[in-house]
Amino acid sequence: MSARKLQFTGAYFDGLSARKHRVTVNLSPRQMMLSLPEDRPVAWSYADLRRQSQDAGDHPPFHLEHSVREPQGDRLETLTVDDPVFLLNLRQTSAIPLHSSLKKVMGSRYVALAVAVLVIPLFLYGLWKVVIPELSDRVAMQVPVSWEEKLGAKILEGLPKMLAPAPHPEKEKALKAIADRLLTALPDQPYNIRVHVSSHKMVNAVALPGGHIIFFQGLLDIAQSPEELAGVLAHEIQHVVHRHSTRGIIRGLTSKILLTLFVGDMNGSMEMALSLAGELDGLRHSRNMEREADRKGMDMILTAGIDPTGMVRMFEKLGEQEKFLVEGGPADASGPEEDTASWMEYLSTHPAGNDRVRQLKNQVANAGKKSYTPLLPDMDWNGTIHQAPGPKLKGI
Ligand SMILES: [Zn+2]
Repeated sequence: MSARKLQFTGAYFDGLSARKHRVTVNLSPRQMMLSLPEDRPVAWSYADLRRQSQDAGDHPPFHLEHSVREPQGDRLETLTVDDPVFLLNLRQTSAIPLHSSLKKVMGSRYVALAVAVLVIPLFLYGLWKVVIPELSDRVAMQVPVSWEEKLGAKILEGLPKMLAPAPHPEKEKALKAIADRLLTALPDQPYNIRVHVSSHKMVNAVALPGGHIIFFQGLLDIAQSPEELAGVLAHEIQHVVHRHSTRGIIRGLTSKILLTLFVGDMNGSMEMALSLAGELDGLRHSRNMEREADRKGMDMILTAGIDPTGMVRMFEKLGEQEKFLVEGGPADASGPEEDTASWMEYLSTHPAGNDRVRQLKNQVANAGKKSYTPLLPDMDWNGTIHQAPGPKLKGI
């Protein structure tokens, strides 16, 4: 065990004159003794000891002051010690609690670092969560419809083969008739709404920027009437006209560009991964966007004179589907193509919870009783829209 150093030299001022005294300082548990060469020693109780400034942290020189109560007023003595272990040894020797100015503090450099460590993530988080969405939304609301159409067409082209729409003329005709009826409620909207059908069995629909809406066969199969299907179509049209997907994609792009700035140069695969994630993520809408599409979709149904109970029924069914999708996932979620799985993951999260159904029911109740005109009354709905049952296997 090495003996702790208890004796130091320092510069002492008595607070009466400007004269500097070289002193020897001896540390003991309750006080330090300052020995002056040509005067009697001075005792400094630790209880009355302060440090002048903690700016230098635990680095010398250490400037201490000691106040002495005297009838004519307080007198302040000061001591400066240059030895780097002085303060540490003072703390270890003292048997009484020291003034907070003498306790260990983080050096200012560390404080700055700690502040940076706390503040920079907060700043980035704010940028990510508030600034980027705000700015992106403003940009998205300014881009021309033609730009959105190009973007939507590009996404449509890039869809994995097993999800991509295929020609289904009869189904498309029926869906177009429903869309035309719905759009009578929005005569001035600028989009060319085009409804496509994909043979995939997924229970879902997706709205691309610029007006392409894809229905997957799985969703068509559970729609028991044109009115039920109109509910989903109205919802998807609202995603288009309120630019929900465009807003999502622009947010993704902005984040990506900023990330590139922060991270520096990225290699090609990282770039590509991000660009794909950005696009797919953009098609997933926020809860507020979903609510907006529900509410305005139902307004559209009511304005177009379509029986709203179809939309309510459809969203009840989608709520049940959601449970299925969350628990089991579609059996064929992993496709042969790399992208398919990620598309499935994004598309399988079209939420339709109970609260959304409740909101739709309230809206219908508030609208009061109306008369509705049936959609496609002369059409064989099930025969046209539902998947034709495959050839039956012969019994053994
Ligand atoms: Zn939606």
